[in-house]
Amino acid sequence: MRSAKRTKALLLAGGLGTRLRPLTDELPKCLAPIAGRPLLDYWIDRLDEAGISLARINTHAHAGQVRDYIAGVNERGGARLVESHEPELLGSAGTVAANADLADDADVILIVYADNLSDVDLGSFIRFHEGHDDPFSMMLFRAPNPRACGIAELDGEARIVSFVEKPENPSSDLANAGLYAVDAEAYREMASLKAFDLGFEVLPRFTGRMRGWLWGGYHLDIGNHAALEQARRDAASVFPGNAARGGSRRRGVFLDRDGTLIEHVHYLDDPSRVRLAPGVGDALRRLRRAGFARVVVTNQSAVGRGRLTLDRLGEIHVELERRLASEGASVDAIYYCPDAPVGDDRTVVENPDRKPGPGMLKRGASELGLDLGGSWMIGDLISDVLAGLNAGCRSILVESGQATAADHEAASGRALVARDMSEAVEKILENEGVQA
Ligand SMILES: [Mg+2]
Repeated sequence: MRSAKRTKALLLAGGLGTRLRPLTDELPKCLAPIAGRPLLDYWIDRLDEAGISLARINTHAHAGQVRDYIAGVNERGGARLVESHEPELLGSAGTVAANADLADDADVILIVYADNLSDVDLGSFIRFHEGHDDPFSMMLFRAPNPRACGIAELDGEARIVSFVEKPENPSSDLANAGLYAVDAEAYREMASLKAFDLGFEVLPRFTGRMRGWLWGGYHLDIGNHAALEQARRDAASVFPGNAARGGSRRRGVFLDRDGTLIEHVHYLDDPSRVRLAPGVGDALRRLRRAGFARVVVTNQSAVGRGRLTLDRLGEIHVELERRLASEGASVDAIYYCPDAPVGDDRTVVENPDRKPGPGMLKRGASELGLDLGGSWMIGDLISDVLAGLNAGCRSILVESGQATAADHEAASGRALVARDMSEAVEKILENEGVQA
């Protein structure tokens, strides 16, 4: 499920930050310090997390300082930054036009207003973009002050059917978060308009062929001193990874899907029937903040039995991620095994991939660079517990799904037991000594 498309980013970071004076007399706004790190660092983390290796960034005020910052980022590895200097500010649409060549060797361009502080999962956003046919996706957030924002109205397929900048009578509180995913061809179209402002001049042209993606996590425009102070207060709890960077390999939590993340539906084949189990959004947010990768591993024998197509399964997973995003939560990857079982004993490894086989966990660990010995598996059946143990992880059996007395008995002494995802995550964080 990981994206195979080439994605590049354009960070809009040239803003003057006049409302942040006198700080911005000395410092470019994009380098305003938050919990000991410049604002741009938080975007570089987001890019690294999503595996986006190249970003263009425009500079204007205090360009020399941003240039030094760029050199530092490029030295430490991860995402590479390339400067696009603007002696005169071109406006957001003008910056797109000046960087039209970004579309030459990319399939998708992410446009990021780097003035915002956000814990968005860019990988999840890009997968949403790739999961529909329109050329443009916009991240939305629930604005406390819709009149001051660009407000979108969505149809039943999340298509944006109206978009109004700073409306007098807002039709919703779904606001433009200043983050777009754009197909290369649409990006060229935006560049060719020779406009100044994306919000006023360009976005209305895409009404009816762009989709909205609601991120329910943290999102704040660092526009004035009050917002900056707010960000500084919030940063420790929203971005706790700040304090503990580097060191050992990343750990993961592997997650069963049906009966664990979502309510169990027998042979689920309809995206509209996806329902998150209670507490799942919060539990996944806490795992991410504690630095764990979240990886879904699901047996989907309905495919092997011919009752579910891979396209439909893909739609179900897009819907799962969309529902998670609206709660500010995300997963790093989803692996599935389409094979139908041969026998009916859930403790027998019939093939390496179908749980209780450890194949999906091993593949996830290898593709995401995870340390299996420090990782966990959470699921509602004995086959989940055993898949975790067979991969060298610790396991937790949850009682929120289909666990039977036999599952409990077989798991006894080998796995922890928890009521549901919330309690399972509580146990993992307790075990890790993480302040939850
Ligand atoms: Mg299950």
